[in-house]
Amino acid sequence: MDTILVVNAGSSSVKFQIFAIEGEGRLRRQIKGQMDGIGSRPRLRAVDANGDPLAERAYQIESVSDIPAAMAVAGAWLRDELRINPMAVGHRVVHGGPDYERPVLIDYGVVSRLERYVALAPLHQPHNLAPIRSLLANFPSLPQVACFDTAFHRTHGTVADYYAIPYQLHAEGVRRYGFHGLSYEYIARTLPQIAPDVAKGRVIVAHLGSGASMCALKGGRSVESTMGFTALDGLPMGTRPGQIDPGVVLYLISEKGMSASNVQDFLYRSCGLKGLSGVSNDMRQLEASNDPHAILAIEYFVYRICLNAGMLAAALQGLDAFVFTAGIGENSAGIRSRIVEQLAWLGIAFDPVANASHARLISRSDSRIPVYVVPTDEELMIAQHTLSVLLNSPSSSPNRERVS
Ligand code: ADP
Repeated sequence: MDTILVVNAGSSSVKFQIFAIEGEGRLRRQIKGQMDGIGSRPRLRAVDANGDPLAERAYQIESVSDIPAAMAVAGAWLRDELRINPMAVGHRVVHGGPDYERPVLIDYGVVSRLERYVALAPLHQPHNLAPIRSLLANFPSLPQVACFDTAFHRTHGTVADYYAIPYQLHAEGVRRYGFHGLSYEYIARTLPQIAPDVAKGRVIVAHLGSGASMCALKGGRSVESTMGFTALDGLPMGTRPGQIDPGVVLYLISEKGMSASNVQDFLYRSCGLKGLSGVSNDMRQLEASNDPHAILAIEYFVYRICLNAGMLAAALQGLDAFVFTAGIGENSAGIRSRIVEQLAWLGIAFDPVANASHARLISRSDSRIPVYVVPTDEELMIAQHTLSVLLNSPSSSPNRERVS
């Protein structure tokens, strides 16, 4: 059976999934796995579609010292033990810059273009590109598709794309890109099956995971997002502050003597829920804690989401529905209820019983604005994109080379 491999490579882990291609281009998830602890305590873990374990093994640090080595180990496991030879690979790539507004079949030209965006996403882009380069070198005729977190937001209007800084900086790429686009695209494609009328209208989607952002959808297209030039902006996150006065950054440099890389590390790893609470970046631990700073961190998280909801409703000139998704949005009834109660003024009548049972619709039937919980699936989105790029691309040869 033909399969697609989906790869999401980070700094110390490579997550991967295998999708089987069934009749009429339907995709069925077969395997979910990851190589983590790369360069420290490498481990391969994988489960099948039912969540039953397929592999759980440790490796010597020398044998899995970087992402290409991790890809080689995972690829060998798929081929040698499971006899899986994917016909194509879809990659999550955080930054498609100003140019890529849809997924693209990868060649060396695309890679060198994407390398130019490393400066725009220094903590993610190099890791996303590493497995692409190693697969291109080792399997030059294996089709690879890059799917971007920024692409779905390229429909933003001009004013939503700018900062009030000299426009030459916009020309060189300092723009409000927005991220989590694969998640929002999945929700935009799923919503018509759940609520067809609402899907045509004005919808706010709150992607609340360890990274968090919100997106304003109009007729299924992104018109505004809380994230901007980098994935630091907007909502507070597990370890990132969200919106912050640039004067704070200047203060850290001038008064605290921090270097650019110190500040970068600080903003990506030591702020957000973790920094504010001093307890944890994990919402489950904060919800279980009585520490006053943990309570403050939750209140701040909820408050900023509600402030930003007002901003996005203004961008949409009204609101027809609100959607929760991602780790916190899908699983925390407590956070959802706090947010929805603070958004009552928008015309939301909350249904606490439906919320507690994690129902799909958590507002009452008489609510002017319905509120939904829709699990996201970025990997399925990548697999779908990969298949459709493949089907629509004359250059992806039918005599494809398989991963080995
Ligand atoms: P990522 O951005 O890493 O993909 P996820 O969307 O998986 O993140 O979300 C991870 C976060 O979701 C965790 O950090 C945790 O705080 C939160 N989370 C997961 N399950 C729950 C739960 N039952 N209650 C509260 N928070 C949860």
